[in-house]
Amino acid sequence: MSVKKSRAALPQDIKVISYEPTMKIDFEDITEFNHFFFQEATCCQYLEQIRWNSNPVCPHCGTAKKPNIIKSRSKIRNISTYRCTEWECNLPFTVLTGTIFERTRIPMRKWFHAAFELASDKNGMSSTELGRKINVSQKTAWFMNHRLRALMTPSPKILKGVIEVDEYYMGGLEKNKHSKKKKRQGSGTVGKVPVVGLLSREGDLILKVYSPEDEMNSKRLHKLLKENVHKDSVIITDGFPAYTGLDQHFAEHEVVKHSQGEYAREDHHINTIEGFWAILSLAILDTFRGVSPQHMHRYCDEFGMRYSSRDITEFGFFKNCIQRFDKARLKYKDLTANGKKRETWKLRAIKAMKTKQLTASK
Ligand SMILES: [Zn+2]
Repeated sequence: MSVKKSRAALPQDIKVISYEPTMKIDFEDITEFNHFFFQEATCCQYLEQIRWNSNPVCPHCGTAKKPNIIKSRSKIRNISTYRCTEWECNLPFTVLTGTIFERTRIPMRKWFHAAFELASDKNGMSSTELGRKINVSQKTAWFMNHRLRALMTPSPKILKGVIEVDEYYMGGLEKNKHSKKKKRQGSGTVGKVPVVGLLSREGDLILKVYSPEDEMNSKRLHKLLKENVHKDSVIITDGFPAYTGLDQHFAEHEVVKHSQGEYAREDHHINTIEGFWAILSLAILDTFRGVSPQHMHRYCDEFGMRYSSRDITEFGFFKNCIQRFDKARLKYKDLTANGKKRETWKLRAIKAMKTKQLTASK
């Protein structure tokens, strides 16, 4: 006998919670969290508080004029919908318009649940596991995971104080790859994705992901440091030759010579950043079973944010992510097009029409 899957009905004992801006909320575990954010309305009220301080601003024209409340057009969710009262604009909008959640068919409570799961798992979560937890397909969970990672892109900052700098190469060995994917033979770093980490002893971390073709030379590394580190800082690196000459741009440059068996000299070491590489490589290998180079920067953003917010609570991490939700959307085709523009039926039709016109004019 087959059991038909039914949509989760609202349990009798769950009351509809109305989120008020004055509410101070915090949750100890996922059950409490899901209980509070069970309704679409509660999630959207929370987002309205973050985005507009509960006073709607039109995302089309930017006016803060009080909008009219209209009937919801969405078939998926019943949330507050507004119409701009600016005469020239007059467009409808909701709190999700122009955000990463725009036009999503996934209920907001599932998005919130996914974000909280990501916040509570220290080693990251694979799409298969996330899909199982929030009851969506692996493909959907993969897309959600990437959209949520887009919220973790760090805001630009300048590091100060003592800075540990190190480079790391992510990816498998060339000899283990499929013959189609193999690059020319060379040193151990060929075909791997170079990642450079700048870690301040105060706890801030900047990660820069390069393409596998980029050579880690002094020009590239010096440029990165000059852009992200204050000139009065003390830089600590290993003996990699490309770091030579940093003392001309910064207050001090200390070199820990691993080749001579030296790993720490008093307080001068790069053990903190090397510890971070261990966490990152283990997660990539263990949780995600390998990552394609085109998505590596997103995984680095996720683990960079995890590292920077290691002292805050799970709900604090969730809040830090979700408060950036009004960023531009990340579309599925942008994620899967491998950096190239995909040919859609619309583009194909335009192309066909142009060739038709050309042959007709000849
Ligand atoms: Zn408007």
